[in-house]
Amino acid sequence: MRIDLHSHSNASDGTDTPAGVMRAAAAAGLEVVALTDHDTTAGIPEASQAARELGLTLLPGAEISCSRRRIGVHMLAYLHDPENAALLAEQEQTKVDRRTRAQRMVQKLSEDFDISWDDVVRQCEPGAAVGRPHIADALVQAGAVASRDEAFATVLNGRSPYYLPYQAPEAGRIVELVRAAGGVPVMAHPRAGKRGRLVSDEDIAGLADLGLAGLEVDHRDHEESDREHLRGLAAELGLLTTGSSDYHGTGKRNRIGENTTAPEVLEKIIALGTEARVVRP
Ligand code: AMP
Ligand code: FE
Ligand code: FE
Ligand code: ZN
Repeated sequence: MRIDLHSHSNASDGTDTPAGVMRAAAAAGLEVVALTDHDTTAGIPEASQAARELGLTLLPGAEISCSRRRIGVHMLAYLHDPENAALLAEQEQTKVDRRTRAQRMVQKLSEDFDISWDDVVRQCEPGAAVGRPHIADALVQAGAVASRDEAFATVLNGRSPYYLPYQAPEAGRIVELVRAAGGVPVMAHPRAGKRGRLVSDEDIAGLADLGLAGLEVDHRDHEESDREHLRGLAAELGLLTTGSSDYHGTGKRNRIGENTTAPEVLEKIIALGTEARVVRP
């Protein structure tokens, strides 16, 4: 059984529609896929319908922006209640903070490049959390860079003078909220070092004490040494280990199904979460 537990649609910063992500998953020979848009579950209804039609099992989810000691953390959440008021409030706040931060980055960029806030808004589906990928698309449109990749390697990089951080909720709080909402929190790409500073093993242990269920180990942004390290840490802390593509359509090189999760891990995730929310064909 082929299982990919991390993908994005244009409800966040992917380029495929939610149904398009499901079609890509089916075409790649996957049987189980999770849709994990950044800070939103808006794509789930459309994805659910497409998954049923295609004979795919869908795990509804999200990738929640948060932080630990001011280091950015992405928390995958599976099978949580999408209507949970406390989680929705955090995601709404993040969306507002992201918007203000993106507007300020675009303000700075517009002094040197021919882009405006309207150009960025045009790259983003209504209601989606606006972020650097959408600014990147506006820069591509303006001819300032050739691709999203080039934008991230240059002007949008964490060390660029145009870069600004945004406020995100504390990772421990998100772990607790996801659990309280009947969901299963798994830390996304914990050793993706190119994105900036890494959360320490001690802090991951602290998150495990609060209810973290797993670590995403097999991911394109991890070297083999990172994977070995994370497998050791997960064994020590009693955490599950997943593998996933982090597919973003044409927005990133990641191909759907390029990393996969073991069926026994999927069973444990489903047992920990709200079974009723699994969408089965
Ligand atoms: P932000 O959260 O607005 O700071 O932007 C980070 C987002 O950019 C993450 O969700 C990533 O999926 C995306 N991202 C990071 N690096 C790249 C890249 N090289 N190409 C495209 N998207 C990227
Ligand atoms: Fe993304
Ligand atoms: Fe991520
Ligand atoms: Zn992701």
